[in-house]
Amino acid sequence: VFNFCAGPAMLPVEVMKKAQAEFVNWQDTGSSVMELSHRSKEFLVVAAKAEADLRDLMAIPENYSVLFCHGGGRGQFSAVPLNFLPAGKSADYIISGSWSKLAAIEAEHYGQVNAIDVTDKVNGQIQVLPSEEWRLNPNAAFVHYCPNETVDGIEIFDIPETHGVPLVADMSSTILSREIDVAKFGLIYAGAQKNIGPSGLTIVIVRNDLLGNAQLTTPAIMNYQVLAKSDSMYNTPPTYAWYLAGLVFEWLKERGGVKEISKINKQKAELLYGYIDESAFYKNHIEAKYRSLMNVPFWLTDDSFNDEFLKQAEAQGLMALQGHRMVGGMRASIYNAMPLAGITALVAFMKEFSAKNSK
Ligand code: PLP
Repeated sequence: VFNFCAGPAMLPVEVMKKAQAEFVNWQDTGSSVMELSHRSKEFLVVAAKAEADLRDLMAIPENYSVLFCHGGGRGQFSAVPLNFLPAGKSADYIISGSWSKLAAIEAEHYGQVNAIDVTDKVNGQIQVLPSEEWRLNPNAAFVHYCPNETVDGIEIFDIPETHGVPLVADMSSTILSREIDVAKFGLIYAGAQKNIGPSGLTIVIVRNDLLGNAQLTTPAIMNYQVLAKSDSMYNTPPTYAWYLAGLVFEWLKERGGVKEISKINKQKAELLYGYIDESAFYKNHIEAKYRSLMNVPFWLTDDSFNDEFLKQAEAQGLMALQGHRMVGGMRASIYNAMPLAGITALVAFMKEFSAKNSK
C-alpha cells in the first residue's frame, strides 16, 4: 500500500518496524518508551538524541532553541503572535494559499495583522509574486509566511529578504524535504505529521534573542521562553511522538540527510508533474516554478470520473488521493517516506485509467 495522505502521513517502513520491535520492552527496561517518565534518565537520552539529530540534519545554529511542543500547526498560529506581537505593533502575513490565510485569521485575535496577498492567476495558472515585490512593512514585528501550502500545492522556494524584520515560517509540510538556511529565519515551526512523526508533536526552532517578549496573557505552555528554559518539559511533552520523531531523524541521517532525500524528492515530483503535463486527461494549474515538491494537486479534466478514479486507485493500494475539500480534485502527498516506487505505481495507474476512459 502507498498512502498519499497529506497528514497524518505514512512513516518510513523501517521506522515502523523498529518501533514495533521496541514497543513493549524498550532497551530491556521492561517498559515501552511511552510508559517512561519524561524526566527519567532513559527518556532524557532519547530526547537529547532526537534534538541533536535534528540540529545536525538542518544545521541549526547554536543561538537557536529547538522546542518539542504540543498543539500542532494551528497551536503555533496562536503561539507566534502571542510571543512575538506586542501591543502597538503589527505583523505582516503573506497569503499564498489556504494555510497562510488561516494563520493570519488566527493572529488577528491577538494583535494587528497586515495581510498581503501574493498570488495571482495568469492564463489559468496560479503564480506567486516575487518576494521583492511584496509590500512589506519595515516596522513590522515579524513577517509570517508558509513556504509550502499543503492544500493548494504552492511552494515558495526562495527565502524572502525581510531586511532585519524577523521571518517566521510555517514549514509543516516542507521541513526536512530540502535544504534551507535556518539562520535566515527568526522562527520555524512545523506540525510533525508529515515529514517527522505522529500528529500532536510540533517542532519550533527559534532564535534565542527573540525570546522573552510574550504578551502577558500567553499560556505558559505556549510561551517559547518557558519552553526553552525547561527543555520543552514545562508540562509532560508528547514523549512517544518525540521518540518516534527521533527514529525518523536517525532514518534520514542513515540515508544521507536532507541533501540526499531532496534529490529523491525532486525526482519523484518531476516524474508525477511530468506525466500530468503530458496527459490531456489530468491537469495541474500552478505555474511550474511554484509547484510543491511535497503536495501535488491534480484534477481530472472530466470530474465525473473522480469517484471511479479513487475507487480503482484504492483497489490497487494507492490510498488517500482525494483532494482537500476546499479545492476538490485529487492530491498526492509525497513526503520523504514515500518511495519512488510509490510514484511509479501512481503514474502507471493514472496512465491505465486515462487510456481506459479517454474518448
Ligand atoms: N500548516 C500547514 C502548512 C499544514 O499543512 C497544516 C495541516 O495540515 C497545519 C498548519 C495545521 O496543522 P495541525 O492540524 O497540526 O494544527
